[in-house]
Order: sequence, then C-alpha cells, then structure tokens
Amino acid sequence: MSNYRTSAFVLGVHNWGEADKLVTLFTLEKGKVKATAFGCRRPKSALAAGMQMFQCIDVELAEGWQLDTVRQCSILKHYKRLGGELPVMAYGSFVAELATELMPEHEPSPEVFALLTKIFSAFEYRNPRIVALISGYQLLEHSGMQLSYSHCVGCGKELKGDCTFLINEGGALCHDCAKPGSLSYTEKLRELILAAQDFDWNEESRMQIGKTELLQAEGILLNQLDSLLGRPLKSLAFIETCFGSK
Ligand SMILES: [Zn+2]
Repeated sequence: MSNYRTSAFVLGVHNWGEADKLVTLFTLEKGKVKATAFGCRRPKSALAAGMQMFQCIDVELAEGWQLDTVRQCSILKHYKRLGGELPVMAYGSFVAELATELMPEHEPSPEVFALLTKIFSAFEYRNPRIVALISGYQLLEHSGMQLSYSHCVGCGKELKGDCTFLINEGGALCHDCAKPGSLSYTEKLRELILAAQDFDWNEESRMQIGKTELLQAEGILLNQLDSLLGRPLKSLAFIETCFGSK
C-alpha cells in the first residue's frame, strides 16, 4: 500500500476508539476518502489541529484496504466563521454532509474541489443560509442527480411563466403535462433556482432572493434530497437547533 499527499477539505469527523478519529475528506487527488487518524485526540498529537471540521489541509495518507490512514497533515486554510460561529457551522455542516452523501468515494473531481473552495470562502462573508442553498443546487448538479428545472420533464418544452413541479416525476412540468399533487413552480422560483445553479461565487456577485422564493427553493431542494437519500440530512437538526426551524 502506498502513501500519497494531497490537499483536502475535512467534511466529517467522528470520534473512534480511545483517542482516534474517523474522518471524511474531500481530496484533490482522489475525491472523497475515508480515513483513520490515530491518536489525534491526544492534545499533543501533530494531527489534532488539522483533523477538525472544515479545515483545508495538506495531508499525507497511507492507502488502506477499506480506510486510508492519516500520516501527517498541516493546515492550509482555517475558515474562521465555519470554525467558530454556530449558524455558519450549522449551514456549513449541511454542505459538508451533502458533499459526503452525493460524491462517490475515490473518484477525483477537481471541479468539486474547486467548488468547495469557493463555497467555504463564501461562508466567511456571505449569508450562510443563501450559501447553503446555492451550494445544494450546485452540488446536486455535479452529482448528476439534479432534477429538470428549466424544461418540462413531460414534453421537453422550455418552460415559460408559472408552472408546476413534481419531484417523483423528475422536475418541472408545463401546464399541459401537469399532474395531480404537483407543487406550484412560479417563474420567479425557476429564475432563482437557475440563478443558483449558475452562480459564479465572485465577490461582487449578488443574488436577489425574496422570502417566498427562498422558502420554496429550500423546500424543493430538501424534498429532493429526502427522496434521493431516503432520510433527512442529520445537519438539518443542527440548523433547527440554531434557528428554531429552517
Ligand atoms: Zn410538458
């Protein structure tokens, strides 16, 4: 088994054994990787600082049969708000959990690594709820499991005006194809979701989001994730404890 060195984001951390941690990393070289960090809960461990949620690290790993082993790591970037402000941590956990759930193991994706870099930086100065929403739609797109937001899944027609949406059917439906049980899918909501998918994360970029559309866009995202994963994301409970409800 060989060693390799890569940049990585820490997306998940669980205590294990007496002084160890199981970590989920999103690495530049190998995509999502699960690894053990032995002894890293001991205060003097050289791994202690790096094996924390949301750190961007330079890490050396030894390949293992099921889990890799963290040999060395140093912090490349510490995100202050993600590391210390509860609401930001809560929405950051949502993004980390989503990336963990949606990305396959050992499949490198420099695009997703670059996206996580932009998202984590955005959490430092943007509204965390909006960052999480945009991230959700963009990560879904990278996973290839996104629904159809701009065209009717029934007839393929490009949507115009207010339409409907049915998650089990795969997305938006025009008036002719609408089915019972469809959700309302207004033109404004569609514009918001398409803008979220295309959002470029430049510092100057802004998104105007009305309260109604924000709630609807979150609803569609969360319902879609529920049906994909078959269970609610654990981070939603964290967000709820911070805000009462999402
Ligand atoms: Zn149609």
